[in-house]
Parts: sequence; C-alpha cells; structure tokens
Amino acid sequence: MSYDNDNIFAKILRGEIPAFKVYEDDNTLCFMDIMPRVPGHCLVIPKTACRNILDASQEQLSACMATVSKVANAAKEAFGADGITLQQFSEAAGGQEVFHLHFHILPRHEGAKVGPHGVMGDMDEIKANCEKITAVLAKG
Ligand code: AMP
Repeated sequence: MSYDNDNIFAKILRGEIPAFKVYEDDNTLCFMDIMPRVPGHCLVIPKTACRNILDASQEQLSACMATVSKVANAAKEAFGADGITLQQFSEAAGGQEVFHLHFHILPRHEGAKVGPHGVMGDMDEIKANCEKITAVLAKG
C-alpha cells in the first residue's frame, strides 16, 4: 500500500483545509478530531508521510510519542480527566479510515463511556476544547 498525498491529513499539513491546532513542533502536529468521541479528543500526526504504524520509521514514531506524552498530560489537566485512552488503527482491516499515521488521544473520566463513531461535533465546542488544552500547554 502506498501513501496517498491527497489524504485529508496531508491536506491539513499543507494548510489546504482548516484544523483546530493544539500543538506543533518541527516533526509533529496535534489537532482536534472533528468527530470527537469525548470532549478533548485530538490527533497526533507526523509531518512527514507514512500510512500507519506498519510503515512508520522509528524517528516518526518517537517524534509522535513525545508529542502524545506532552498533549496527553495537558489534556488530562485541561479536562480534569482520570485517565487517557490512546488509540491507533493501521489499515482498513485494523479500523483505519484516514491513511496518514495518527494517534487518538481521548481524555477519560471514571465510568464515562466514549461516544459513537462518526458523529460530527459542534465546531464552537471543539474550538473551546482546543483552547482548554492550549492554555495548559502555554503554562509550560
Ligand atoms: P481512523 O483512521 O479510523 O483512526 O479515523 C480517522 C479520524 O479522523 C476519525 O476519528 C475522524 O473523526 C477524524 N477526522 C476525519 N477528518 C478530519 C478532519 N478534517 N479534521 C479532524 N479530524 C478528522
């Protein structure tokens, strides 16, 4: 399977479609999922091309994990969460729908279930949730 340069996350990286950006560094970008399964659901991607965990380089994976760690801690604080669920799907059979490597970060509360898959979120709410995480990150 080869990488498709026109996948939706490649378009976000090129600035061709908008995203609520949570964090970025030289190698990774984190932005809000527009179909959030919990408040604060966001995605971490490498800035360079790879489909998923099966073709990612060690450098891409470790850059993503550094950002996952940073954002997961900030999101836990921002939402007063009890824990974090980290998800990654590789290839269609593994549940992947967008074929640019990404890690889902979901802040979780004791006893609270995740919402349904594929339901478009309220953009004002997503923006406000993005700002909650960026405010924690800004504290350093
Ligand atoms: P998956 O490939 O199964 O891990 O799912 C892709 C994820 O990307 C889903 O959670 C979608 O809600 C999310 N998604 C799809 N398009 C966008 C977009 N334009 N901006 C942010 N998130 C998106």
